[in-house]
Order: sequence, then C-alpha cells, then structure tokens
Amino acid sequence: MEPIESVRGIGEKLGKALRRKGIKNIEDALYYLPSRYEDRREMRKISDLQVGKMVTTVGEILNVKVSKYLRGRRKILEMTVGDESGVLSVKWFHFNHYMIDSLKKGDSVILSGKVRRYKGSKEMHHPEIEVIDKVDENPLHFGRIVPIYPHIEGMFPKTLRRIMKGVVDTCAALIYDPIPDHILRKQGLPRLSEALRYTHFPHNVDNIDRLNLWRSNAHRRLIFDEFFFLELALALKRNEVLSEKGISFSVSNDFLERFENLLPFALTSAQRRVIREIFGDMESCCPMNRLIQGDVGSGKTVVALAAAMIAIENGYQVAIMVPTELLAEQHFFNVGSLTKTMPFKIALLTSDIRGLQRHILYRRIENGEIHVVIGTHALLQDKVRFSRLGFVIIDEQHKFGVVQRSILRGKAWRPDTLVMTATPIPRTLSMTVYGDLDISMVDELPPGRRPVLTRLFHEKHRDRVYDIVRKEIEKGRQVYVIYPLIEESEKLDLKNATDMCEELKNIFSHFKIQLLHGRMKVEQKEAIMHDFKRGNIDILVSTTVIEVGIDVPNASLMVVEHAERFGLSQLHQMRGRVGRGEYSSHCLLLGQYKKTDQAKRRLTVMEKTTDGFRIADEDLAIRGPGDFFGIRQSGFPEFKIANLMRDVKILGEARKEAFRLVRDNPTLDNPRYSSLRDTLMQRYKGNLKFLEVG
Ligand code: ADP
Ligand code: MG
Repeated sequence: MEPIESVRGIGEKLGKALRRKGIKNIEDALYYLPSRYEDRREMRKISDLQVGKMVTTVGEILNVKVSKYLRGRRKILEMTVGDESGVLSVKWFHFNHYMIDSLKKGDSVILSGKVRRYKGSKEMHHPEIEVIDKVDENPLHFGRIVPIYPHIEGMFPKTLRRIMKGVVDTCAALIYDPIPDHILRKQGLPRLSEALRYTHFPHNVDNIDRLNLWRSNAHRRLIFDEFFFLELALALKRNEVLSEKGISFSVSNDFLERFENLLPFALTSAQRRVIREIFGDMESCCPMNRLIQGDVGSGKTVVALAAAMIAIENGYQVAIMVPTELLAEQHFFNVGSLTKTMPFKIALLTSDIRGLQRHILYRRIENGEIHVVIGTHALLQDKVRFSRLGFVIIDEQHKFGVVQRSILRGKAWRPDTLVMTATPIPRTLSMTVYGDLDISMVDELPPGRRPVLTRLFHEKHRDRVYDIVRKEIEKGRQVYVIYPLIEESEKLDLKNATDMCEELKNIFSHFKIQLLHGRMKVEQKEAIMHDFKRGNIDILVSTTVIEVGIDVPNASLMVVEHAERFGLSQLHQMRGRVGRGEYSSHCLLLGQYKKTDQAKRRLTVMEKTTDGFRIADEDLAIRGPGDFFGIRQSGFPEFKIANLMRDVKILGEARKEAFRLVRDNPTLDNPRYSSLRDTLMQRYKGNLKFLEVG
C-alpha cells in the first residue's frame, strides 16, 4: 500500500504525527474511523439560539482574554463570538495554555454546547469547540454530520478531517473487496468502498444514534469483514481436522448402564446427554475436539470419567491434566474409588514425585502398564512418553495456554481431546474463542443443591463476619477462609495469610484453625485436607489452592478476604466449594471499597446472582475479552473495529456465512474464491497459531 506521505498535503511533519498513531499507509488511514459523529446539519444563528438547549453554532472570534477574579486567585478564559445576527459570550473556568494559543481573534469557530442566560446576554460554558477555516470556504466541518476522529497529537481536528476527506475521496474506491457478492446481498451489506466512504463521511443519515452506536449498515459491513475472515480460517481448519483420521473407539451398548451402576448417584439428564455427544465423537474416526462447559458443581468430572473408561476399555491410555496438585490428587482419589472393581492402573504425576520414584513411573507409563495418568504441568515434560495414549482430558482449561495443550496432544497420534471449563461464556463467543472445538453444555445441577447465599461486607464490619463464623461452627459446620495469593507478591501475601491465621486463632481460641497454602509439601497438604474432610479442623485458612474441585459437604460457610482482588468468575468458582452438602450455605465477601467504587458494583453482582453465565458476562464487560480469555497469551487476533462483546450478533452471522461457504467449497479452490484465499493468507500471515486450540 502507498505510504501515507503520498497523499497530497501530507509532508514530513504531518506524516510523522500520523505514523505515531500507527497510520503508515493509505489503508491504515481508511481504517482510522471516527470515534463518533456530531450532527452539525442544523447550524443556528446566534440570535436564534434558545436558552437551555444543546445547540451548534458558528461564528468569528471577536475577542479572547484571560481575566482574573477573587483577587487574582482564579482565572477565566473569556471569548466573544459573533455572526451577522448577534454575539455570544463563551467561558472556560478550567483551561490550559494550548487553548489560549489556539484561539485567535478573527478565526472562525464551531461551538456546541448548552446555552445559558447571564445578565441579559447569552453564554456557553465549556463548549465543544473547533477552529475551522473561513465559514464560506469549506463545508466539511459543518452543515452536515461531521466525523469526530480520535485525537492525533499535534494536529487540529480540521486538518485531520481534511486529510481524511482527501484519502477517502481518492482511495476508497480503489480498495479491493474480497467478500463475494452473494453473501453481501444476503446480509444486506454495502460493498467495502461504499462502507468506508460512509463511515467517514455519512450522507442521508436518518438516525445519528445508530451511527454513533456503530450500528449503521456501513459499520456492520466493516465489523462483518473482520469476523468473516476469522471464521473462514476456523472453518477451513475444522474441515482439515474432520478429514483427518484418528482413533475410532467402540462403545458397547450396555456401557452407560454399567457405568451408572458404579456411581453412588444417578446421572442428571444433562450429564447423560453430554456423555452421548462425546460417545458419538469417539466412535467416529475423526479426532474429537470437544469442550464441555458447565457451572461449578454441575458434575463434569463424571462425564469425563465415562469417556476415559471407554478409551481404556479400547486398550488406550488416558492423560488427565489439571491446574493444581490438590486437584490432581482429588481426581486421583475419586477415579481410584470409582474404578476399584476394575483392573485399571492409575498414577499420579506431580512435581512432588521425584527421583527414583519418578523414573519408575515414567517407565511404567512408557511401557503401557499405567492406564490413566493424572497430573499437573509435570505431564508436559519430554520424559513423559506413552505407549498408546488415545485420550486427553484437560480440566479447567482456561488455566492452560494453547501451547501447553498442544504439547500434551503431541504425545499421541491424533488422540481424542476433551477440555472442560467452569467459566461459562455466551455460546457464539465460545465458538470463536475456542476455535474449532465442538461444545457441550452440562446445563443442569445435580438435584438437591442449594444456591450459596452471598453477602458483601465492608472491612469495617469484620466483627459481624466473625459472629456469623462463630455461629456456624457452633452448629457443627466448618468454614473456609480464603486469602488471595498473587504471584508477584507471593511472599508478602503468604505472610498476610499466616498473620490472618494467627489473628483468627486469637479470636477463636477454642476452635481448631489450620493454614493451608501452595508452598506446602503434597503430603502435608493432603494430611490437612484429610483432617478437614474428617471434621478435625473448624476453620481452614487457605490461599486459592482450594479454588477448584475440592469437596467437603460439611463446609457450609466461606469467607473471602480482599474479595476485591479476585475476578468475579474466580469468586464464583470458589464459592462453588460450599453448598455441596445438605446444609444451607453462605459466602461472605470481605472487601475494601468506597461506596461509589467500581469494585463495589462488581462485587454486588455476586450477591445478586448464582448464574455463572451472567457473572461471566459481567466479568467480560468489566475486564474486556483480552484479559478474560488470556487472549494475548494465546495469540488470538485482536480486532481493529469489531468488538466481541458489542458485536456478538454480527459474529454469529459471519460465522454462519463462512461455514456455509466452506461446506460448499471445502478447500475454496474454485477460481471464484482465489482472491478470498489470498486475502485470508495475507491477513493471518503465519498468525493462525491460535487455531490450534484444544
Ligand atoms: P464440576 O463440574 O465443578 O467439576 P464435579 O464433577 O466436581 O463438578 O462434581 C461436583 C460434585 O457433584 C461431586 O461431588 C460429584 O460427585 C457430584 N455429582 C456429580 N454428578 C452428580 C449427580 N448426577 N448426582 C449427584 N451428585 C453428583
Ligand atoms: Mg471440576
């Protein structure tokens, strides 16, 4: 593309300013869209301005001065603007030198703001102001819907607008439109050049709000564009996977019945449905790539276990990767007890297993003696080699990066893969964020679960929280106190958790209180968890290690310290640790926040709902998709124009069209689509890494 300096009127100085903003060539400029639009179609004469109304007017600066008042302690910037009909006084009570310098007698300005009356004359305070060229010379800045661009340092809005007008007029028509006509027609979207022209300088606007919400057809077209190519890449990738041959497991007819007989409970219908979906994948010879979403406590583990047993019965090994050692241990324990009557060998692999013991374990995995290996990141090491790995399960998948997942899968030849997450997100979003995964939802909790009642307490009401803790223990229940542990300051936090534990011991001197944290040895942690499960500990003060998976039905109360430091989805996961027994249970969030704080608003969401989806939505809205999904780390593309939250609907449409196109033309090798392919390659130059999800 032509460098930006090739545009008439852009010399070295302006070129530099534009480049600093990332506008290096004409295409960059075309995609530098207005952040909003101002309706300047109706310009009022000064004499016609109505007091109390928001208006736009244009006039010449007759006079500018800074005056002092309150004996020189305060300053006002005062300006008089006039047109042929009258004069208007304009005042700023806060201003800087840049403003004084940019306003000169004789300049024409556009003003938007509210009109007031002061001592019989009209005034505006702190209006939007823009210096323009002589009123009658250039109709670009008024008398129309005017684009307001994100500010570029060292450039007047009018200059930037003039540059953009030049670029759009000469270059928009030249831009190549890769999307096939029939798709645009079906979606009712304009061609690319028209869309670009309109988003910069809209004409025939009947609804300026739609424009400002980026909901015009032109905006929709640009957003659609970005999503369409992403989805096209996903569709192609998925097609490739579908055409690969993996393992075809056989599932015996009576399996589900046999499996349920092993369980101490009946499966929920959601669990049964998801298990069937998985079995369908396993029987087919395409490698399975499925994501199971389900709220905390919905019973995803059992579902995964059923699938694992199929793999074992077919003579394959299974690897289960989880984020923490405690969770690995719990899975190890559960799987062990469920499969007691079966001749399966299950092994635990964590970083705590060392030396000779570890070497022996490696050997037994490699020679196929071990059927199921449950472990943490330790599973990823080179030395872990399998003889017939056929099934990979990844629990709490959001804790792992894409790379880690593909390392594990690389230890086998096209294994079936199941990933599980307790962080629910809207379906359209997950389809995209998780690339080419199929998705199953365990959308039902096992019967008899009672929702965890959640209450927010300010730090200064700590006493009330202690009262509730005392009463609960006196009823015979047990309590978790959770302390945040943030990696950068782990040592300090650990000290805080330790101090907290000591404080609690002073306050509740007749209760048994124990600290648990990630730095402890596995045996020590295990012993403590065991003690807690048996009821020998009243209060377990823990860092976030208990966040996932651990089950103690008698624990009915959770107190979270510094709740404001946690993400909402994380809090939701944690509180899923209580409410697992027959007792009504509570989660008390202790936090430091001001009344008006974002933090407070955020935390009240936890009081209002126990719906993981809604919580995830809020979290997503507050933190943005980048942080939420760890997108930056996974190499997921950032969108220039589209916004995953705002544009979910357009995303769905783009996905539909892209997948349909690939279904009908699986490799896009029809010459009709060669330019589509080229554009795809160009846009994702070697940047398709994120597609290898799973
Ligand atoms: P999560 O989806 O959060 O991983 P788990 O698989 O850990 O949930 O299950 C939570 C608890 O519910 C476990 O104690 C498990 O044994 C139990 N559970 C799972 N399915 C059922 C069911 N159908 N009926 C009753 N309890 C169940
Ligand atoms: Mg789980």
